[in-house]
Formats: sequence, structure tokens, C-alpha cells
Amino acid sequence: MNCPFCHKNVPLWWYYFHVKGHRRLKADGQHESHITLHPELREQGSLEGVPKVYEHPKCGGMTVMPEKIIRSYLKNPFMYNGKTFCTGCHTYVDDSELFWVETGQRMSEYRLELQRNAR
Ligand SMILES: [Zn+2]
Ligand SMILES: [Zn+2]
Repeated sequence: MNCPFCHKNVPLWWYYFHVKGHRRLKADGQHESHITLHPELREQGSLEGVPKVYEHPKCGGMTVMPEKIIRSYLKNPFMYNGKTFCTGCHTYVDDSELFWVETGQRMSEYRLELQRNAR
């Protein structure tokens, strides 16, 4: 089985425990790893102009989106649901509550825009 987190080939009998390890929570409440596209399938181009930092006005927290996740959802915006980690809240919040610092756009609108363009 190909692991959707680290993209290693994992024997079927070990798959459940392996994936469980990725889902373990870090001390700050964030999941150990996130599902990403295989590195070769990710967006390879420049990320210039692509928003990377988002703010949660409710708590004032700012969070940097990991590059491997950005490059994954640029290629497949359907692989993430509306929940995104906020370093201020130490938990996952709805992306309609988050705003990109670079553009001021609501993250949920940005996601829908990417999804529309991907169709
Ligand atoms: Zn793995
Ligand atoms: Zn927050």
C-alpha cells in the first residue's frame, strides 16, 4: 500500500499502525503529518504570488502553510476539506474564519476558487 502521508510503500499488515503514527498529534495539537500529493505530482513551478500565511482574527494567530501542502492543493484542491490548523488556537478551525495575510482573501473563498478552476 502506498502511504498517503509519506509516500513509502507499506506492507498491508503494517499499514494501519503506520498510518496511525502519522495521525498522532504533536504537542502543539497539530497532526504529525498531513496527506500530500506524491512529490512528483505536486506543483513544481514558482510559488510567487501564492498566499502562504494566514491569520485567524478570532485569536490573532498567524500560521504559515507548509510548502508541500500548498504545492499539493495547487494541483488537487479537492484533497483538503475546510479544516485548517491555527497555531493561535492549537487546533483545526474552519477555513471560512481564516484570511490570507498576503491578499486579505478569505481562505474558504480561495479554496472554492481553486476548486472551480480545477474543474
Ligand atoms: Zn507513511
Ligand atoms: Zn485561531
